[in-house]
Amino acid sequence: MSSYQDLIFDKAYIGGQWRDSERHFAVTNPATGEVLAQVADLGADDVREAVAAAESAWHGWKRKTAKERSALLRAWYDSIMAHQDALAELMTREQGKPLAEARGEVAYGASFVEYYAEEAKRIAGDTLPGHGPDKRILVFREPIGVVAAITPWNFPLAMITRKCAPAMAAGCSVVIKPAEATPLTALALAKLAEDVGIPSGVLNVVTASSPREVGPVLTGDSRVRKVSFTGSTAVGKILLSQCAATVKKASMELGGNAPFIVFDDADLDAAVEGAVASKYRNSGQTCVCTNRLLVQDGVYDAFVEKLAKRVAELKVGNGLDDGVLQGPLINAAAVDKVQSHISDALGKGASLVCGGKPHQLGGTFFEPTVLRDVTTDMQVAREETFGPLAPVFRFTTDEEAIAMANDTEFGLAAYFYARDYRRIWHTMENLEYGMVAINEGILSTELAPFGGIKESGLGREGSRYGLDEYTELKYACLGGL
Ligand code: ADP
Repeated sequence: MSSYQDLIFDKAYIGGQWRDSERHFAVTNPATGEVLAQVADLGADDVREAVAAAESAWHGWKRKTAKERSALLRAWYDSIMAHQDALAELMTREQGKPLAEARGEVAYGASFVEYYAEEAKRIAGDTLPGHGPDKRILVFREPIGVVAAITPWNFPLAMITRKCAPAMAAGCSVVIKPAEATPLTALALAKLAEDVGIPSGVLNVVTASSPREVGPVLTGDSRVRKVSFTGSTAVGKILLSQCAATVKKASMELGGNAPFIVFDDADLDAAVEGAVASKYRNSGQTCVCTNRLLVQDGVYDAFVEKLAKRVAELKVGNGLDDGVLQGPLINAAAVDKVQSHISDALGKGASLVCGGKPHQLGGTFFEPTVLRDVTTDMQVAREETFGPLAPVFRFTTDEEAIAMANDTEFGLAAYFYARDYRRIWHTMENLEYGMVAINEGILSTELAPFGGIKESGLGREGSRYGLDEYTELKYACLGGL
């Protein structure tokens, strides 16, 4: 069995070579401040080389049979799962999430590789009736080409596999630019891919401390045909505009402002469990984390009381320690944002139910917090907190709840708890979101199309729909028959 140390690599991976650089940047453990590695800090020229390597590998990769690609992806999946514990420990040290969550992320991330290994064999075209007696219409699904995957730190493994697995299944090659806080998990994945025989250049990892320097290579190089990004809405907008110059296809998995509605006929205990799962996973640092709890008048006080009781039980600490459910936040800026949302809300009339300040452990640990009497004029109504703060708003009618939920430029995930089937159907239909969870607090799975509408993004990841992002249709008109 390997340990996490066996999976630490500090060089970038380009065209099957492990590449050092003159400059390096430190990767630190947010729970302890310990430096885990000094990683190669690439510049624009190195990234251009990675694009060239991906481009030349693409031609061989797309000509392999689907079954060959499938077998290699399956081998990568098996290897990721065989290293689940070591990868999880590396991720906890690099990113801070509790070990149990990290193990869950390895399995979740690997599930995309398994799923698209299977799906690789089912990427089929079509024949359609022709527009004349001597004509036939053929439709082929072809790989789009070199894919740039720009990924965030909150899911250092799963956000990579969710992009690479469908891309590679479709016959594309990939250049991954992981977040500067979490390059080690990405490099470990590359090593496992190399070990199982994924051909050189099909999967490349470029590590860099300055995304502003290397990003424009990925969005501007005409050899890159697709950019798949997960991260903030602000950066997504920049990348999308950069993609316009070469008319690149783009998938954007951006921010959210998820509402979690509790109607007065809900099973309150189940709603509290769902709220805790959805709000406090990864210490509130996921794009589908609940940002606003909307609770109906009749159950408001009871819900707040039950929620606060559960939240007070969440153990904060180093993710490697037993029983810890809340790790540190990723950095000091993340702590500042939570604090500013809390003080803004308190200044405008909200009250603190529990938590509310940096944790006594110091560093970037923060107390899981619940605020009540939160209103729509407060910052937290509009901005994604991305931290362990649950603000509870109050509503009276169903229409008011739906209007409040939709009153945002975001449209990623929404959650609600209710029992009446008419209310469930009506609410589900009227929520302007890409994903709606009903009587559930967690909705991510490789089997479903994950993605948002409005300013939360473009495109879907997971399920058979996720493959469409990496294929182009070619229509051939066969005439003269
Ligand atoms: P977060 O706020 O979650 O850190 P970001 O959107 O800043 O999200 O980062 C997500 C990914 O986008 C990371 O890999 C980061 O390095 C990259 N990134 C940030 N700014 C740019 C940029 N200007 N160009 C290209 N990539 C960027």
